Amino acid sequence: MVDFALTEEQRAIRDWVRTFVEREIIPLEQEVLRRERVGEGHGLTREELRGLQLLARKSDFWGVQTPVEYGGMGLDAVAAALVEVELGRSFVPFSFGGNADNILYHANAEQRERYLLPTISGERRSCFAITEPGAGSDAKAIRARAHRDGSDWVINGEKTFITGGNEADFTMVFAVTDPEKGADGGVTCFLVDRDQGWRSEPIHTMGEWGPASLVFEDVRVPESSILGEEGQGFALAMKWIGRGRYLLPARAVGACERLLGMAVEYANTRETFGTPIAERQAIQWMIADSQVELEALRLLVLSAAWQVAGDRDSRHAQSIAKLYGGQKANEIVDRVLQIHGGMGYTRELPVERWYRELRLLRIYEGTDEIQRRAIARDLLKGHVKVGATLG
Ligand SMILES: Cc1cc2nc3c(=O)[nH]c(=O)nc-3n(C[C@H](O)[C@H](O)[C@H](O)COP(=O)(O)OP(=O)(O)OC[C@H]3O[C@@H](n4cnc5c(N)ncnc54)[C@H](O)[C@@H]3O)c2cc1C
Repeated sequence: MVDFALTEEQRAIRDWVRTFVEREIIPLEQEVLRRERVGEGHGLTREELRGLQLLARKSDFWGVQTPVEYGGMGLDAVAAALVEVELGRSFVPFSFGGNADNILYHANAEQRERYLLPTISGERRSCFAITEPGAGSDAKAIRARAHRDGSDWVINGEKTFITGGNEADFTMVFAVTDPEKGADGGVTCFLVDRDQGWRSEPIHTMGEWGPASLVFEDVRVPESSILGEEGQGFALAMKWIGRGRYLLPARAVGACERLLGMAVEYANTRETFGTPIAERQAIQWMIADSQVELEALRLLVLSAAWQVAGDRDSRHAQSIAKLYGGQKANEIVDRVLQIHGGMGYTRELPVERWYRELRLLRIYEGTDEIQRRAIARDLLKGHVKVGATLG
């Protein structure tokens, strides 16, 4: 039997987050839109975010996927996807506190105290820096260099599009330590505090996300800054990128639910030529197609999450969910904007806000083309068999 029903626990988690988003997050939307419109900043202030995270913590919502021994909830991937769907129902950039990048768990005892634990508690903020002006999809082409000088390492190079790079207290930066080996044993990850000498510059984008470029000019760090092992950085980078690709389209599911709900309401109330536009087949088809794609996306996301939760090889399923999510969320937001006519194009409504934000899903953490490349390769090289999804 295939059972698509949620367990009682999963339903309870989903319902709790839905109520939290409705009560605490959605009421902030108008203020967030106002601030973004007048250039008073993106989203919430650090204090506001922290306040909401601590509020959620009172109900034990803290560290959704953080292991229980680190004070987290230790939820599995399916529950995490359900949480993300609910958070996606608002464009206010909120996530629960108590998390750290998965690769920080490779920290040694000293790094654990200095980086991992303060990141989980929210005292310190990290950023993940591999992309460079000359190396995005082709991450193996990075040129940032770290060379030994006595017992230290000296890092030089530039990173670009680093999420949180302008706010982070420290970075996990990837640099070539052995050019001959390159990505196969010659890239190392360093934990580097901002006050050790790197600079950041914000990058203005079409959305409300503000990544940054990071500049390293003779930044000197001790040997103890290496995360994991010297030369093993590329594997860590791939582990970070693969940590939860399914969570990105999961957020898009939530966004599409809200957007489609808005379209249904608008179609039923907006009248032209004496009747609600909901009675026009052109509008009905846009609503129908969006619903079909939204439900297909939901199943792809949950099926990928289910594979992650069961420790199965989920890469293929995650690429499919990410690709489909990026494509379909963009088609859905475009239709919803169309259904709203001129109002959809204004900043009175958040549709254009989502329109700009969802566009990113087709680019970061593996572009559409890179996902297609991976999916096709899996089939062409025989790693995955056509039609074998259910075993
Ligand atoms: C807002 C934002 C936040 C980001 N956050 C981070 C972060 O925190 N840390 C970090 O390290 N990076 C981050 N990135 C970088 C992101 O991962 C890269 O932008 C992405 O991987 C694409 O790389 P690129 O921009 O260099 O494009 P390119 O790799 O130059 O690609 C250009 C175009 O060519 C296509 N293409 C490339 N190779 C192939 C191929 N083999 N076959 C077919 N088509 C191909 C691409 O799909 C794309 O359409 C972020 C980017 C953005 C925009």
